[in-house]
Amino acid sequence: MPELPEVETVRRGLEPAMEGARFTKVDVHRGDLRWPLPKDFKARLEGKTVTGLGRRAKYLLADLSSGDVLLMHLGMSGSFHVFDEKARAGEGKAPGNYYHERSQHVAHDHVVFHMSSGTAVTFNDPRRFGSMKLVPRGELDAEPLLNRLGPEPLGNEFDAAMLARACKGKKTSLKAALSDQHVVAGLGNIYVCEALYRARLSPKRAASTVASKSGAPNERAERLVTGIKAVLNDAIKAGGSSLRDHKRPDGELGMFQHHFRVYDREGEKCPTPGCRGTVKRIVQSGRSTFYCPACQK
Ligand SMILES: [Zn+2]
Repeated sequence: MPELPEVETVRRGLEPAMEGARFTKVDVHRGDLRWPLPKDFKARLEGKTVTGLGRRAKYLLADLSSGDVLLMHLGMSGSFHVFDEKARAGEGKAPGNYYHERSQHVAHDHVVFHMSSGTAVTFNDPRRFGSMKLVPRGELDAEPLLNRLGPEPLGNEFDAAMLARACKGKKTSLKAALSDQHVVAGLGNIYVCEALYRARLSPKRAASTVASKSGAPNERAERLVTGIKAVLNDAIKAGGSSLRDHKRPDGELGMFQHHFRVYDREGEKCPTPGCRGTVKRIVQSGRSTFYCPACQK
């Protein structure tokens, strides 16, 4: 399941194809994604220009010249592919090339954006938990998918004081608090585990222990915010480099290999220099947590 760094990597991959470009034609093969696409979806996109492509938590937001915002979410298995349409037309004549290979899973290409930049952007989603929605820019603040999200973890406003205020008095574990989209937006199981490892804090520790009784941040809150920002920035950097190295002809965006330090490493030696601990797996709220009991206190 893509988390914030993967979505940001996808945004960066789509930017050159979409930003400043017009939708010349939109093909909808299946409109029943997580929610049905609006009936006027094609009409509200075709002929409009993408004036900016942003991200909020795990949502991509394309600002359109019409004043609409196209909201896109990858769900569990969604991915975007960027094709050079001119190259594709040329190579399509030769048998045995990637175009043929692509047709194997073209059944899951639910939406195709043909852009004036000469590229086609396809949205592929075998499980159809992804979603697209059009919202007028003026109604974005009231949009239910976005308006209850907590702060953006890489934003300047997200700091130890803000995290401590959100965790003040919380009896739940740090793992549960960081997974709560109202506390901080966009973190999932993987990056919560990795951030807690970097902050040397146990996932079982009560969330309230990063704040004083009055909600002031302590040194743990500082460490945790530093850990969250560092792991996300590293993952975006890794995604960016895999994007640059991405020579696959199908131009797939959204699936990247990262090197995790504790996630999915049960039984391995803790990577912290000088620590003799072993990575342990426990289950919290039905999800696996990986951590080192020796150096995460
Ligand atoms: Zn350790």
